Amino acid sequence: MFRSVLVANRGEIARRIFRTARRLGIETVAVASDADLEAAHVRDADRAVRIGPAPAAESYLSIPDLVAAALESGAEAVHPGYGFLSETAAFAEAVQAAGLIWIGPSPAAIRAMGLKDSARERMIAAGVPVTPGWQGDDGSEATLLTAARDLGWPVLIKAAAGGGGRGIRRVDNGADFPAALAACRREAQAAFGDDRVLLERCIEAPRHIEVQVFGDAHGGLVHLFERDCTLQRRRQKVIEEAPAPGMTAEVREAVCAAALAAARAVDYVGAGTVEFIADARDGLRSDRIWFMEMNTRLQVEHPVTEAVTGVDLVEWQFRVAAGEPLPLSQDRIALNGWAVEARLCAEIPERGFIPSTGRLEHLALPEGVRIDSGVEAGDEVGPHYDSLIAKLIAWAPTREGATESLAEACAGVETWPLKTNAGFLARCLDDSDFLAGRIDTGFIEARLAQLATAPAPSQALVSAAAAALAALSAEDASAPSRDLAGFRLNAPPRGRVRVWCDGEPLWADLDSAPDEADLLDAGGSLVLFEGGSAFAFAASPPDREGGAAAAGDGSVSAPLPGKVVAVPVAEGARVARGDVLVVIEAMKMEHGLIAPFDGVVEGLSTAVGDQVREGEALVRVRSETQ
Ligand code: ADP
Ligand code: ADP
Ligand code: MG
Repeated sequence: MFRSVLVANRGEIARRIFRTARRLGIETVAVASDADLEAAHVRDADRAVRIGPAPAAESYLSIPDLVAAALESGAEAVHPGYGFLSETAAFAEAVQAAGLIWIGPSPAAIRAMGLKDSARERMIAAGVPVTPGWQGDDGSEATLLTAARDLGWPVLIKAAAGGGGRGIRRVDNGADFPAALAACRREAQAAFGDDRVLLERCIEAPRHIEVQVFGDAHGGLVHLFERDCTLQRRRQKVIEEAPAPGMTAEVREAVCAAALAAARAVDYVGAGTVEFIADARDGLRSDRIWFMEMNTRLQVEHPVTEAVTGVDLVEWQFRVAAGEPLPLSQDRIALNGWAVEARLCAEIPERGFIPSTGRLEHLALPEGVRIDSGVEAGDEVGPHYDSLIAKLIAWAPTREGATESLAEACAGVETWPLKTNAGFLARCLDDSDFLAGRIDTGFIEARLAQLATAPAPSQALVSAAAAALAALSAEDASAPSRDLAGFRLNAPPRGRVRVWCDGEPLWADLDSAPDEADLLDAGGSLVLFEGGSAFAFAASPPDREGGAAAAGDGSVSAPLPGKVVAVPVAEGARVARGDVLVVIEAMKMEHGLIAPFDGVVEGLSTAVGDQVREGEALVRVRSETQ
């Protein structure tokens, strides 16, 4: 076994890999961009090397800087994590050319599966059932349109080089096809530098089922059963589980055999995932499940497989990269119980899931579930990288037990002042259709309004907040609160009082206030948590003018370079504080720029499609009260 490993990644994945390395006595080396010099993954590692400025293209995606960092640090091996360069054959080659051990599949296998069209061809040749579709060299509009008609509407146009749920477009009829094709090509060229596309029949109400495979350099190849990643939003995974609900022995055998055939066809070594799409209208059937793509790396959702098989997949990656054979043969890998994972992100479901960035002053994650986190209280969640705070993974003997425990865990998440999707996740996990296993990839979209909206705080919470505010104002005689005046020290307050929750007035019943509640003093307001959401209570209404002054002159600029994908307001429009003015897409994320206070939109200098620079002023809000 090698003695040291550099992880060419950040956040929870780097920390996850370090954990196994530490257990095995392997020295850990982190890399960091300027935005991450104090990040949790840097603190975790034995050593860290700075690789470049904050933009990923100049740091985590820079092959020369990463290889130089590995050589400089003396690390013997390089683990790419997932995302970033994990599926870039040129990175694997550069690492190997520098005389270092690459913890991943061969560059040839990465390349073979890297483009979806050539991967499909290879899989067809290997006898793997592939989603009905079309791929080829002649990408003329006429050829593609004929192929689409032959497949039958609706079809998906997919960027051959696509990934991360990007570059996929559904088309429902021939009339829409030319424009959709042109748009997909443009997007593919801009995002992946390659405008080639393929077609697939769009499976209606499908499920995403994938199989974990593992190969070694001695011809060993096993699968570790399936995961179900059907709960997605915009084709990106949100909740994953293992095994798949409703899976039968017959279908499992078929899909796992297909995954092994796919891996064998490219002499796969290391951890990989073969993704399938299933038409599950009549339940899972072995003749209605097709190869979609192979991800030649460890997957974000690998912990659910670890939980049901007892295997540490990162340990296996290390062992295989060091030339050891697979630790277990197929007949010794068994499924045990059920595991469900939720991706906790710093984002605001109520506002179209825009990222919530800044310093995470308060973070409390529940106990009793596995937590793979990328940040700790006090850390920054910046705009440069993805907004994953942590993954929560629950295991239980049954699906019911695992789901319930994960729902409870999500509902117990506390963050401030950043917002998260914790409440949204808890509501997904509590949904009766989800609990019954009645899921397809449109599950979230179909229930979006109800899942994305946090319910109002309960009466009990409002009362607890009011009682706490009363107690505070009684203590703080120097600053008596107008609204809570009348409460006397030592006399428990009674009756109904008015409090402000997130700026809106509510009435609280102090007669039923509980003795104790978990709360956070957030300077001026008290924050209480319920169902995964934070509610900020104050004894008096928000000071709108103070807010305006604090938010500067109302000019709103791009926090990072990116492309403008939406401008939901017009010049002269009246907006309220928090309204989204401009949406910028950068990395795989959309960033909503919001109005700092109530006012009127002025100087709107950007439009959909613009590329904007970091710090570029895009729009201004003029307060009418100033
Ligand atoms: P999966 O199917 O495993 O979710 P994705 O391709 O969506 O695979 O990406 C895996 C993860 O890698 C993402 O969730 C994200 O955390 C990270 N990632 C991917 N691409 C980038 C990128 N360009 N910049 C930052 N992080 C990325
Ligand atoms: P990516 O590389 O972006 O992960 P995939 O080909 O894996 O692209 O597809 C991403 C998601 O898009 C799938 O998980 C599924 O939800 C949806 N999808 C892909 N292909 C199809 C299809 N043929 N029919 C219906 N949905 C599909
Ligand atoms: Mg995929």
